[in-house]
Amino acid sequence: MSQTVRTAIVTGGSRGIGRAICKHFAAEGKNLVINYAGNLQAAEETAAECRELGAQVILVQADVSSAAGCEELFAKAQEAFKTVDILVNNAGITRDGLILRMSEDNFDEVINTNLKGAFLCMKLASRIMMKQRWGRIINMSSVAGVRGNPGQVNYSASKAGLIGITKSLAKELAGRSVTVNAVAPGMIETDMTGVLPDAVKDQLLQGIPMARAGKPEEIAAAVAFFASEEAGYITGQVLCVDGGMAV
Ligand code: NAP
Repeated sequence: MSQTVRTAIVTGGSRGIGRAICKHFAAEGKNLVINYAGNLQAAEETAAECRELGAQVILVQADVSSAAGCEELFAKAQEAFKTVDILVNNAGITRDGLILRMSEDNFDEVINTNLKGAFLCMKLASRIMMKQRWGRIINMSSVAGVRGNPGQVNYSASKAGLIGITKSLAKELAGRSVTVNAVAPGMIETDMTGVLPDAVKDQLLQGIPMARAGKPEEIAAAVAFFASEEAGYITGQVLCVDGGMAV
């Protein structure tokens, strides 16, 4: 019996963890909608690597912090592939600083991209997935949203907020066989952590029982599990993929 080819939107799919998720999905034969904010070169590299793995791919530049951007993303996905089966809310930014030095703009920017952007995409995905009575939504939280982190009140608020949305929406959509789960990575080797000073990285490493940073592929594997046909009875969960950091 032939298996349904699922279509996945990955926000922030151009680099880092998002790129690893796209490649994992591509290797599984999924159709891919790769979203990015502005780095066309990185997005094209990811798309080329996914096509080499045999996937049908479209690239959509869209700012997820704007409703118009999210609407365009979903419209283009439906135009190319008719439906959306899987949504990975992975796009994220940091604007770190201790609270006394954190501007209101830095707070709003992080909340609008990481939390509101995911909300806007989930709203559009819910309409489609409820109607087709199948869907998988995976939100990229963080160990900072589970445990907090000094210098990241904006970021940890956005990531804790994603955990709240995950649990609430899981309950709203469960009756339609749509699951909503979150992955909470620890410290992963990407551009986001590459800019951290060595002293900060060393301090973070000391808090990781496995004594190493994680790889984007290790996050992609957890996302792919939540997105799989087999994970249909798991919803509202937060899976920490962090070498034991949050234990
Ligand atoms: P990254 O390497 O900095 O990549 C960020 C991605 O998000 C890029 O694809 C970027 O697009 C996209 N993006 C940023 N703002 C966007 C917007 N407004 N609209 C659409 N796309 C946008 O980050 P990463 O380390 O892979 O992180 C991916 C996710 O995992 C984030 O949500 C992050 O918070 C979370 N996370 C990361 C770590 C870690 O240690 N790295 C730990 C815990 C959680 P462009 O390429 O076009 O700029």
